[in-house]
Amino acid sequence: MSTAGLMNGTQLANDIFARSAERAEDFLARTGTKPCLATVIVGDDPASVTYVTMKENRSHRVGIASRHTALPTTASSLNVVSAITRLSDDPTVHGILLQHPSPPQIDESAAFEAINPEKDVDGVTMHSFAAMALGRPGFVSCTPGGIIRLLDAYGVELSGRHAVVIGRSPILGRPVGMLLLGRDATVTYCHSKTLELPSIVRTADIVVAAVGQPKFVKGDWLSPGVVIIDAGYNPGNVGDVDFEEAIERASLITPVPGGVGPMTIALLMEQTVDAAFQQAALS
Ligand code: NAP
Repeated sequence: MSTAGLMNGTQLANDIFARSAERAEDFLARTGTKPCLATVIVGDDPASVTYVTMKENRSHRVGIASRHTALPTTASSLNVVSAITRLSDDPTVHGILLQHPSPPQIDESAAFEAINPEKDVDGVTMHSFAAMALGRPGFVSCTPGGIIRLLDAYGVELSGRHAVVIGRSPILGRPVGMLLLGRDATVTYCHSKTLELPSIVRTADIVVAAVGQPKFVKGDWLSPGVVIIDAGYNPGNVGDVDFEEAIERASLITPVPGGVGPMTIALLMEQTVDAAFQQAALS
């Protein structure tokens, strides 16, 4: 039986890091400053601390300066909004990332909306979402943007194909469906209230799994030749798709790890450098 080809996100991300590093160096040569990414974290959730550290380490390797703001677990929404507003107003900061989730007392929408859209390199503001949904210039949410780059890199035709997106979160399922629609795919969103999910997934040419449950998508839900994007990242490096079953059916699939994950940071780096050029009115 044939098995699926792997979509190598690590390799594609490395290409994007290399290109971003060249552009960051060019920015430094032309302005005397590095592109600067400000990261904001509230509390000490170990996974969030790890993600922020990974992003700062990668920034350093790409030639992007980091500015880190750590607020205590007890911080109020006003504290967070004030910190982000200061960064939005600071001309030496080009991109802002608020690591989420925030502690429950934080009004995360208010915190996101305090990010100047010109610095919204993680694509979390309503302005960025609307621009993305309408196909206007702006910063895309990094994981969905990375997924589209992977599909393009592997020559997956999107126009007229049926894409089934499982999950509708604001940072992943919902925006990736919008981006696929913008590329003329026919998009079906599925979520926890969807009925007959396996039979809908069987009609897909492209499946994006963004559920947050290990091995949720089963092999017998998949039609032969389907392209699978597994955005899931569950404990133990397990995706949202049953990989062993899916590779027997799919033509292409993203591995976990090494598929979608590296692309998220790659888009963050690329968009931070883009933001720096845009704010300096350079091309
Ligand atoms: P989320 O906010 O928890 O959203 C999960 C979505 O799955 C929701 O829309 C939910 O539906 C839907 N869902 C839950 N149970 C379902 C079911 N039984 N049938 C159909 N749909 C169901 O999660 P998320 O932030 O989008 O993340 C999803 C996954 O992607 C996680 O594994 C996460 O770790 C991973 N992720 C990876 C990256 C990366 O960089 N690789 C970035 C972000 C997230 P309702 O809306 O109806 O509740």
